[in-house]
Amino acid sequence: MKRAETLAALRAADAFDVLVIGGGIAGAGIALEAARAGAKVALVEARDFASGTSSRSSKLVHGGLRYLAQAQFGLTRESVRERDALLRDAAGLVQPLRFLLPVRRGGRNGRAKLGVGLFLYDQFAGRRTRRWHAADELLGAAPGLDPQGLDGGWSYLDAQTDDARLVLRVLTEARRLSALTLNHAKVEGLTRNPLGVDGARVRDQISGSAFTLKARVVVNATGVWADQVRANLDRAPLLRPLRGSHLLLPAWRLPLAQAIGLFHPDDGRPVFALPWEGRTLVGTTDLDHDAGLDQEPGISAGELDYLLRALQAAFPAFGLSAADVLSTWSGVRPVVSSGRAVDPSKEAREHLITLEDGLITVTGGKLTTFRSTALQALRLAQSRVPALRQLDGTAPVFTPIEHQSRLRTLAPELRARLTARYGSDAAAVVGGAAPDELAPLCGTPTVFAELRWACRAEGVEQLDDLLLRRTRLGLLLRDGAAQLLPRIQPLASQELGWDDARWQAECARYRELIARCYGVPGARP
Ligand code: FAD
Repeated sequence: MKRAETLAALRAADAFDVLVIGGGIAGAGIALEAARAGAKVALVEARDFASGTSSRSSKLVHGGLRYLAQAQFGLTRESVRERDALLRDAAGLVQPLRFLLPVRRGGRNGRAKLGVGLFLYDQFAGRRTRRWHAADELLGAAPGLDPQGLDGGWSYLDAQTDDARLVLRVLTEARRLSALTLNHAKVEGLTRNPLGVDGARVRDQISGSAFTLKARVVVNATGVWADQVRANLDRAPLLRPLRGSHLLLPAWRLPLAQAIGLFHPDDGRPVFALPWEGRTLVGTTDLDHDAGLDQEPGISAGELDYLLRALQAAFPAFGLSAADVLSTWSGVRPVVSSGRAVDPSKEAREHLITLEDGLITVTGGKLTTFRSTALQALRLAQSRVPALRQLDGTAPVFTPIEHQSRLRTLAPELRARLTARYGSDAAAVVGGAAPDELAPLCGTPTVFAELRWACRAEGVEQLDDLLLRRTRLGLLLRDGAAQLLPRIQPLASQELGWDDARWQAECARYRELIARCYGVPGARP
């Protein structure tokens, strides 16, 4: 359904069973599970789908070994279960990833200590994935690693994804089950009846027009912005926004066949590097985010140096520097504040679900656990929405995809990629493309057909929707994939109807955004 049609359908509807505010992974998961149960669902997103923290994560679908170290056993158990369900139901979009943990003589985390942690982690998964590797074997798997004092290392299995594409696939599935989802539509206030919250006032950010949506239950899934929506009910803030930043490097500068976990030489915090989309992703920092939430977050010069120092200490032979960085991004975690001034990394990462005057708020969770969190939140609404008594926590996360004969002629890798990202739309992605649009773009795994499909069918309203979330080209290529812009202009003209003036305005806005929030701090204009 085109955006204008969705907007018209939302305006025309009397009332919904469930209105979800926020189109990140939490909101998408809630919309999907509510629609699966047969509820009439609407979801509105202030900016773009997944434009909040859900496109800015470390892209891990993981049990969270570090949560185990903080004795958050419930979170680890739930995360491991959800990880395994996603590996099964979203194969290809969620992929196994082996992690190496080097052990150094005299280091804080010796073989025995890490071994106990990994033993417990394997217990939660119900299978043994941990292995001990001698130093030689470890150096073969991670060339360039400093051999000095290396005892060997552990490895274990976790998983990774493309976070924004995961959100988009969940939303596609929700729409297939009749949910209406609209991006660039901001909730500006809540409406109430004597029983509590019964709807929201929404402003379409494209046309500027306002309208009201009514619902039996309203779910506030606005992540780090959740306190802003709760403020409509005069509730005190709950969240401590914590920023985490990442770097992306070319794989040839830091080649890794699997992920590697390191302990930062300055403070012992865990830092990791992992292969992602043919590049190497490095993260993350963890510090209070004092900038306002209305601006997109970006890495600071101090965070860049901190992450580079971890790499330089672990891989001294590679001489890595800021010049190697392709792109950066920062996300802000909606961490539920303990109210104490503890070290950010010591705040618990459990999600929070509250019911206040009929408003359900879901915040502080993980990408990994979106489905179990959605089910927990919706159970709170079962008395108001009878359809939600049919919630089905055992259904596959995604409907199994039928064989698509149109994909038969594709190379196996491309077929797997498109099926994983687009589900049963993969055949339409290929069907809408010219033959030369199925070749990888500029050394990335992305094909031009994905850009065309995104413009045609995935609600692209701005250039960053296309290059930062529908595809990740803006992260994978230097300067936000500036080299591709001349090839994208005719596409935007054909598929989105952008004339030259609109194209120039989009490019100017996009370039400024890339320089401010996705580049290397010192290199900013
Ligand atoms: P968001 O994705 O932020 O979505 C909230 C949405 O609400 C936004 O899109 C926003 O625009 C919208 N919104 C706000 N106000 C309004 C309004 N008034 N009207 C309409 N819409 C509104 N988890 C993992 O499982 N694995 C990881 O590897 C991982 N790494 C992480 C790394 C970092 C640095 C960070 C910060 C987090 C990481 N997480 C990870 C956690 C995970 O990414 C987040 O918990 C999750 O993405 C939060 O999703 P959300 O939907 O709650 O919030």
